[in-house]
Amino acid sequence: MKELSRRAKVRKFAKHGYPNPTCVVCGEGDVRCLELNHIFAETNSDLCGPKCTNCHAIFSDMQEDHEGEDVRRCDRERGGLLLQAAILIGMVILLVLLGTHAQKSGNESLGTMYISIGETLTACITFDFALHEHLFDKYGPDYDKGLTLELPL
Ligand SMILES: [Zn+2]
Repeated sequence: MKELSRRAKVRKFAKHGYPNPTCVVCGEGDVRCLELNHIFAETNSDLCGPKCTNCHAIFSDMQEDHEGEDVRRCDRERGGLLLQAAILIGMVILLVLLGTHAQKSGNESLGTMYISIGETLTACITFDFALHEHLFDKYGPDYDKGLTLELPL
């Protein structure tokens, strides 16, 4: 990577709040293999963080493999419950990756805690999908339209 490109990449990370970027999952700090990535998929949130190419690929693969709704779809009109579920799915994947990395690094307790929190959030995702289905069936596709709550995207 040319020095000019490397510096531009470092400036981009700094602009997003990461003056000394490392992968949020594994801690890789070589800027040549870091990417600024939307943590919960671009359609769900503007929150970005550095991920190395390996962790990014694993994260994306886990998002694609998630059962149920496609969390990366570009439907800005979807209901708030589905958006919340999509963000929670991203959190669960991040926690599982952090937990797995902590366990591989010898911190078994921290890894177990991350994974346990992720499993707990999975129950919230199931609830979001079930409540969405119930409200959709009972009140139709616009069941949450008219709510004035602003989502912090
Ligand atoms: Zn990584």
